[in-house]
Amino acid sequence: MSPGERAALELAEAAREPAGGGGGFAASLFMGRPRLSRVSPLPRQTLEDRDQGDAFLERLGRFMDAEVDPDAIDRDGEIPERVIAGLSRLGAFGIKIPARYGGLGLSQTNYSRAAMLLGSRCANLTALLSAHQSIGVPQPLLTFGTDEQRRRFLPRCAGGDISAFALTEPGVGSDPAKMETVATPSPDGTHYVLDGEKLWCTNGTKAGLAVVMAKTPGAPGGGAPKISAFVVEMDAPGVEVVQRCRFMGLRALYNGVIRFDRVRVPAENLILGEGRGLKVALTTLNTGRITLPAACAGMAKRCLEWATSWAGERVQWGAPIGRHDAVAQKLAGIAADAFAIESMTLYTSALVDRDKRADVRVEAAFAKLWGSEAAWRIVNETMQIRGGRGYETAASLAARGEAPVPVERFLRDSRINTIFEGSSEIMRLFIAREALDPHLKVAGAALNTQLSTTARLRAALRAARFYALWYPGLWIPRAGGLAATHPALRKDMRKARALSRKLARRQFHAMLRHGPKLEKRQILLGRFVDIGAELFAMTTSVSHASHLLEAGDLDPGGINSLVSKVQYFCKTSRGRVAGLFAATRRNADREGYRLAASLLK
Ligand SMILES: Cc1cc2nc3c(=O)[nH]c(=O)nc-3n(C[C@H](O)[C@H](O)[C@H](O)COP(=O)(O)OP(=O)(O)OC[C@H]3O[C@@H](n4cnc5c(N)ncnc54)[C@H](O)[C@@H]3O)c2cc1C
Repeated sequence: MSPGERAALELAEAAREPAGGGGGFAASLFMGRPRLSRVSPLPRQTLEDRDQGDAFLERLGRFMDAEVDPDAIDRDGEIPERVIAGLSRLGAFGIKIPARYGGLGLSQTNYSRAAMLLGSRCANLTALLSAHQSIGVPQPLLTFGTDEQRRRFLPRCAGGDISAFALTEPGVGSDPAKMETVATPSPDGTHYVLDGEKLWCTNGTKAGLAVVMAKTPGAPGGGAPKISAFVVEMDAPGVEVVQRCRFMGLRALYNGVIRFDRVRVPAENLILGEGRGLKVALTTLNTGRITLPAACAGMAKRCLEWATSWAGERVQWGAPIGRHDAVAQKLAGIAADAFAIESMTLYTSALVDRDKRADVRVEAAFAKLWGSEAAWRIVNETMQIRGGRGYETAASLAARGEAPVPVERFLRDSRINTIFEGSSEIMRLFIAREALDPHLKVAGAALNTQLSTTARLRAALRAARFYALWYPGLWIPRAGGLAATHPALRKDMRKARALSRKLARRQFHAMLRHGPKLEKRQILLGRFVDIGAELFAMTTSVSHASHLLEAGDLDPGGINSLVSKVQYFCKTSRGRVAGLFAATRRNADREGYRLAASLLK
């Protein structure tokens, strides 16, 4: 391992949260013993919570209809001040901030529902509000801030003082170990002096406050510098917006390069303590990234509406295009995948509502990874179904007297979702690390060459005892545990459980085959992660549907269509899983790596 790789790994490991209670439901999918009781029945939203959310969504929806023109925002590259002021009056800048700090105090589920609504209309507003409260100042202060910090900053944030999150630098994308921004403590300990430059800071050009990650000196006597997190006043002397960055989509993003030149930051603005900044940043992103699949779910459902109406109304070759098999299959895929994104998001949000400190790292990462990739497929297929009209801008469609359906804008806006807040590749590595964690705990010591031979032998014996019981169990089908699953969907849940056992076996075989080198086989690990993500999508969809069916609000037609949608989803998902399993054995990974290496030369 190169020193750079080791530094990055050590930093990421140091910031990992201990997996409370052996990890959640999502992590258990990799061990072949999925705890179905954790996903089904779906944790319920209380009626009171639902009513509170409905009331806010009503107001937000009306405001969006009356005051917001998402196409104009996209065209002008600006969000009108009156829109920002209106959102602030609605309380949209403090959705999750408790009422005692001036916020609406809504639950994570209601916040996700708001993100779905926003995502179905305007990605620029979604990004503004999400960067502010999913990752900007409110979220880290709600998780790690002191009472004094919360009292000082949260009322401002709830009132519409926009905030930002500044981690990325020109040399720091996915790998924070190379961070160059530094915060030097003053000799009297009253403040830090911040120097450096942050890249692509969303809201940075408009923000009053930002959470900034910077390196602080290591322990006296040669300790390595560590990353710390600070709340920084963006009007402090020395803070400069160097450039507003512009992108393919999200054209009204207030995103910029921000320079800090000898900026004085009071010591009271340090979050959690020196050297704890990466934990602050990564933990913030764990919950913060739920907003992204929520917005993707909203976007996907909007695409489904457009695709369905166009597939029914457009007649070519003597029939509505939706009656031609090639288009029909796309439509079915959009409907099924949109439901799955929503299911994953609502489940993960409900876990946070049940326990604010719940370990949802893997659930949120699955929802982000699978949701953003599915949403990209969905918007792409919607464009294909709309044909030339999909590629045409809404303004041009309107000028020709046609419905201004903004699929083109949605496609541009959604591309970034697989890149920011943890790229798909990094999400796969992150989840793979968690998937292997139970094995590292059991067998890691046996492979650790830095331990004594006796310690390694003892560890090997412990591991042998564990695997002697665990592995044979992976071949034995399990019964029961499906009482909360709707009878029409039990078969799908059972199959998902069987596939989880197969996943655990195959991953174990790969560990035996590759040993510690498995870590380098990113594509192989990525396939295991993708299988896990499909299983998560299946189980949460079945559980979500069971919940809706049990609520009894659907007429017979609604029941049938929901059951067949989820059964269809599970069948297509199992098809993808079969392809992934096959590719773990037969693939061109080595040839691909060799080809890339020759290109890099
Ligand atoms: C519109 C926009 C808004 C943003 N907003 C913010 C913000 O508010 N705050 C903030 O701090 N940052 C923000 N970012 C930064 C964003 O989070 C980064 O772009 C993202 O972390 C990826 O970093 P990078 O672009 O430097 O890619 P790199 O890290 O250079 O990666 C390039 C490619 O290599 C892959 N890759 C990297 N390392 C590995 C590895 N070890 N194994 C396999 N593949 C790897 C990546 O997945 C990616 O595909 C924003 C970016 C954009 C474009």
